[in-house]
Amino acid sequence: LGWTVDAEPVPLDTEFPQWGDSRYVRLVLESETLTLAEALRHLYVLLPVLDDAKHYWVSADEVDKLLRAGEGWLPGHPEQQLITSRYLSRRWSLTRQAREALELVRLAEADDSEVESIDNAVGEETEAEEKPTPLAVLRREAILTALRARGAARVLDLGCGQGQLVQELLKDVRFTEIVGVDVSVRALTIAARRLGLDRMGERQASRVQLTQGSLAYTDQRLKGYDAAVLSEVIEHLDLPRLPALEYAVFGHARPRTVVVTTPNVEYNVRWETLPAGHVRHGDHRFEWTRAEFRAWAAEVAERHAYEVEFAPVGPDDPEVGPPTQLALFTLRAEKEAKAA
Ligand code: SAH
Repeated sequence: LGWTVDAEPVPLDTEFPQWGDSRYVRLVLESETLTLAEALRHLYVLLPVLDDAKHYWVSADEVDKLLRAGEGWLPGHPEQQLITSRYLSRRWSLTRQAREALELVRLAEADDSEVESIDNAVGEETEAEEKPTPLAVLRREAILTALRARGAARVLDLGCGQGQLVQELLKDVRFTEIVGVDVSVRALTIAARRLGLDRMGERQASRVQLTQGSLAYTDQRLKGYDAAVLSEVIEHLDLPRLPALEYAVFGHARPRTVVVTTPNVEYNVRWETLPAGHVRHGDHRFEWTRAEFRAWAAEVAERHAYEVEFAPVGPDDPEVGPPTQLALFTLRAEKEAKAA
């Protein structure tokens, strides 16, 4: 960690040197570059680790505390396994959760992109040194453009994952209320950490909320928003579960605007790294052609009284189309009201 450590054992009792040393040391940490805040975060984690005896009940929020205090040093620490396991009092399931989260953080920090690295492997034709814009960035830009065009202020990010879109939404004051929903507590923990929710000013914090929930069930909390985003989410549901999501979002929550993005499977042949016939991500339950996506979207729109338009995300290949397809739904009553 970069400290010069001076640890001098403290005698059990100075009156009786024959009793030997106590289990305590007088500790001095010195560094030219590290800050006091870093020292406190290191000690917060490492004192119980060195002690190897936690004196209070270890609950699930200890994982969050560990991730927060370990930010910037624990993901890459060579003794990460030992530290994590001892900090969590060797509670196996918590340790595994923490280690998985740390690994995701490490990967994300390694290239500051999503875990779905293949999503980022493509972009427009570019000069040798110029990096192509990651597809994930193009996707977020397309979504933000659609939301701004609709004048949406209160926005749901459904299946928000690690909170990258929420982070972008927060940068624009036009978005006054941003709610990230995901079924994965782990993803939400990482999102909270990415956003720095606990360090955020009150004003900023009041604009954002992360909450756990499944899109396969109707949820009262999701009613009354201007817009909902489903960015690369539908393909993570088993096809037989998709109608439940459709109903929960379009039938029950019923925001004025819904933006849906999903991979265009036709584009997969343009990826040299993707073996033929493979989906882009291990958790994708299906990937659709442009025709399949349009047919689904048109049917959903019809059933729930929305209008739908389509837009490409990324380079629109003349033969196979764009890497990602976007559908923009508008509630019909809204459209008529606008026209009037
Ligand atoms: N929207 C993000 C993340 C996409 S990954 C982005 O565009 O990068 C898909 C996300 O959907 C995952 O975080 C996963 O946990 C979430 N998800 C999958 N099924 C879900 C469900 N039934 N309810 C809520 N979230 C779900």
